[in-house]
Amino acid sequence: QIGSRNILEARGVTKRFGGLQALAGVDLDVREGEILGLVGPNGSGKTTLINVISGFYPLSGGTIMVDGAEIGRLPAHEIAHRGIARTYQIPRPFVNMTVLDNVSMAATFGGPPRTAAEIREEALHWIGFTGLAGKEEALPAELNLHERKFLELARALAAKPKLLLLDEVLSGLNPAEVDNAIRLVRAIRAQGATIVFVEHLMRAVVELSDRVAVLNEGKLFALGAPREVMRDPRVVSIYLGK
Ligand code: ADP
Repeated sequence: QIGSRNILEARGVTKRFGGLQALAGVDLDVREGEILGLVGPNGSGKTTLINVISGFYPLSGGTIMVDGAEIGRLPAHEIAHRGIARTYQIPRPFVNMTVLDNVSMAATFGGPPRTAAEIREEALHWIGFTGLAGKEEALPAELNLHERKFLELARALAAKPKLLLLDEVLSGLNPAEVDNAIRLVRAIRAQGATIVFVEHLMRAVVELSDRVAVLNEGKLFALGAPREVMRDPRVVSIYLGK
């Protein structure tokens, strides 16, 4: 399933907020088809890395290549058009659109031109698949936290991104919901997506990741197989140090 080709290549990526260096020269390769867990202590730059890859924030320096093309200076909508999708720590659905319309809109982006009826069918399929059946006509504000997170996953499934960036999509879920979300993330990968996910929940990081990348103070600190990386005394010490 995992290719030998890199879908994402970040080189010397820096991001400054005024005097604060949130990313201090990150080099990271992500292989096509892999699920890469992105971990690190609070403030180590994980969300900022997602934000610069998705174009939500402009880079301060460095390059980001996706599928061999430089995207580091493109606006967010151009990056989305290249098949790079993201979720937010706090879900950001279109608040005045129903669940069905939110997922239908993602499905419109994520496939060949189809009739409205076909898009609706597909959206209903992903709503059922993510356990949101019965909520089709609900507005996001009427959903609870776990339903909003699953709406993000339904939109990601419908949009069929080639690279999906997930920001703490599992936090705040109960153990059964976490299991369900893990199943959905695997389903997204099975559709051909490459996934980078930021997560604090170690069980999910170990179960889902092909490789884990550890950020510390805005730099790549460790990279490798999940169990080895999470047991590495250097990695343990940066967590304990905070
Ligand atoms: P993590 O996701 O690993 O917890 P972040 O990427 O959120 O870390 O933050 C890295 C650093 O950048 C932190 O010091 C944070 O306060 C700072 N930072 C993040 N976003 C902004 C912003 N929009 N404005 C100013 N500082 C920010």
